[in-house]
Amino acid sequence: MTTLTKTETTEFLSEIEAIYEQPLAYRLRASSKWVSKPFKERNFFEKVASIELANKRNYEVQPKNPKPPPIHNIWIERFWLCYTIPPALIIQRLWYYLVSETSYFHAWHPLFAFLFYYIAFFVFITQVAKRSQYYMNYYGTFDEENRPRDYVPDKLVTRLVMSVNIYMMARTAGGLILGGYDRNTPPSLGHTISWFFVVKVGLWLIALDFFFYCYHRIVHIVPFLWRIHSLHHCTKHPTALQSILAGDIQELIEIFLVPFAASMIMPLTAHEFWIAQCVLIYMEAGGHSGIRAYWPHVILYEVLKPFGMEICIEDHDLHHRYGKSGMNYGKQTRIFDRIFGTHCDRVECVQK
Ligand SMILES: [Zn+2]
Ligand SMILES: [Zn+2]
Repeated sequence: MTTLTKTETTEFLSEIEAIYEQPLAYRLRASSKWVSKPFKERNFFEKVASIELANKRNYEVQPKNPKPPPIHNIWIERFWLCYTIPPALIIQRLWYYLVSETSYFHAWHPLFAFLFYYIAFFVFITQVAKRSQYYMNYYGTFDEENRPRDYVPDKLVTRLVMSVNIYMMARTAGGLILGGYDRNTPPSLGHTISWFFVVKVGLWLIALDFFFYCYHRIVHIVPFLWRIHSLHHCTKHPTALQSILAGDIQELIEIFLVPFAASMIMPLTAHEFWIAQCVLIYMEAGGHSGIRAYWPHVILYEVLKPFGMEICIEDHDLHHRYGKSGMNYGKQTRIFDRIFGTHCDRVECVQK
């Protein structure tokens, strides 16, 4: 048996890459045998992770689409969010209206509020995942002629489910604590929810994006920190819920510290936090769905578009494709990528 020298090995790999016209690492995919098991035979974590499975076509290479990505009507999304986000707040408001003030059950104890909004968040995230899957199927996904979307690897199914659970718990509790939840004050427009809540949530998202940009750029540069962040980058073509896939330290920073810092700049009430967190996960999931359309931010689009600082789905999709070499570090805007010169040109949404 002949052993290749290091130079010969490099040359051999280069030859293979030349044949496929792509880096070899780009073609390699982790084993995901769990998706081929019948649903009944999947374990608990695999069953929960099935929520994030898109149509089979999204995991297979597709013929090249000669048309440019269509412009998705962002008002459809705004309308969808207008009837998907408020029900949790309306239910709490109705409860306070219908249950007598003299009743022991009138005011929601913080623990009950936490449980209620935790379940509501799970329902919302499930709806966001299903919506992403619908549009992945409808529009196709970026770069699908070269490499389709990645399944969650076998080794990371449990980690993903745990990450989603920790995310929901931490974000729900964080919103109630940072927003100063008061059991005697039900949701009320003009009181606990400002008439200008869209502006407040927009500013909070920009502040959050600044802190996230700083953290994100550092973890791509510092080798020790990259090891922490690299778990999130195990996929080059993620799907919606893989936006939450992260290591413990990354979760600590992203879930606790970044929103906490943003709240110091733009404080929100507990009920405004509910709206902000829903928009946040909606945008994060969209940014990881790879939906092949020009699909900008639901709140910040018109404000940032004149400056070329608006983000769209392709931007974070490219961030995953480039891996450690980075670019496009922002997840809500391109403000800081533009200012610090770390944005990269879009590949398919070039006409916008
Ligand atoms: Zn990254
Ligand atoms: Zn990502």
